[in-house]
Amino acid sequence: MKERAWIELNMDHLKQNVHAFQSMLQKKCRIMAVVKADAYGHGAVEVAKYLETIGVTDFCVASVAEGIELRNAGVIGEILILGYTHPARLEEVVAYDLMQTVIDADYANNLKEFGKEIRVHVGIDTGMHRLGERFENIEEIIKIWEIKNLKIEGIFSHLCVADSMEKEDIAFTKLQIERFNQIRDKLIENGIKDFCMHIQSSYGVLNYPECEYDFVRLGVSLYGSLSAGEDKVKADIMLNPVLSLKSRIECVKELVVGESAGYGLDFTAKRNSKIAAVAIGYADGIPRNISKEAYVLCQGKRAPIVGRLCMDQILIDVTDIKEVAPHTEITVIGEEGAERITAEMFAGWAGTITNEIFSRLGKRLKIKS
Ligand SMILES: *Cc1c(COP(=O)(O)O)cnc(C)c1O
Repeated sequence: MKERAWIELNMDHLKQNVHAFQSMLQKKCRIMAVVKADAYGHGAVEVAKYLETIGVTDFCVASVAEGIELRNAGVIGEILILGYTHPARLEEVVAYDLMQTVIDADYANNLKEFGKEIRVHVGIDTGMHRLGERFENIEEIIKIWEIKNLKIEGIFSHLCVADSMEKEDIAFTKLQIERFNQIRDKLIENGIKDFCMHIQSSYGVLNYPECEYDFVRLGVSLYGSLSAGEDKVKADIMLNPVLSLKSRIECVKELVVGESAGYGLDFTAKRNSKIAAVAIGYADGIPRNISKEAYVLCQGKRAPIVGRLCMDQILIDVTDIKEVAPHTEITVIGEEGAERITAEMFAGWAGTITNEIFSRLGKRLKIKS
């Protein structure tokens, strides 16, 4: 790679993660790969096309535009739009054979006004209070089935505390699952059948592996990471990180003790130092507020990030590292020899979760698989 900064994907790891989940799940349960936000920065087209070659043919995205991008790239599997689509764009949902979420009963009316046959999954709000029609409104939910132009293929809900092992959060998750099952029973009582069901995303599967629905919607865990390094999960599963983030040294400077560097002269050399500028910055998705503990890997060694992050550069302290020169490769997330910076560590330094770090990786980064 002759780029200034880039992403490397390990597709074998992606395959291993798929197989690990498949062997854990019930036979009839399928993975719906969550490839929204450019597959959490991994490249939606690359990821979806690869997954199709290993038999994963169900996807979900956040928007109609993301669905169209996949279709234009030749993805032929099922694609569910999890979020809002403006009624003026429903024509495209149909044209590209995407499935739309019925966000709530009001939105069902927009779909009715659209008039043409459209494939949908109905969102049920079992307690998160984000999208979905409230589970209490069973009459409203059943009425959605009366809308003639809707081809309703499934119902789904979303768990909001499945990552937590706190007693009350476990109880709440179980309550959400129970409410979801109640909806299923009510629909069946009303003669409605032939719909698939899904409620688990990564932590739903990792902590409630006993659930038996038709699909699981896997995002972050499919890419081989937990959201946070300190999370403990119930399932005994090995996740292999798919993404590495790399860059290069642009230039190296010798600083004498007392000299400062970077915006605000935020870093001051406490000894004679060697400081390198690396060609990656906050415009590439490295949070500007990353903590002082943060480091990158250079020649298999840790090199602290010093001073303020810039839009296109970071400064690193390479005083103790031999053989650093312009073009030397740097690992921001990934392994070099015995050293490893996981996405979880990196997210921890930035005070956020891996999901956010991944999904904010910039468009400027080339993806190499
Ligand atoms: C983003 C999203 C997912 C995937 O979540 P992960 O925790 O990354 O697995 C699943 N379902 C819905 C509705 C989502 O919005």
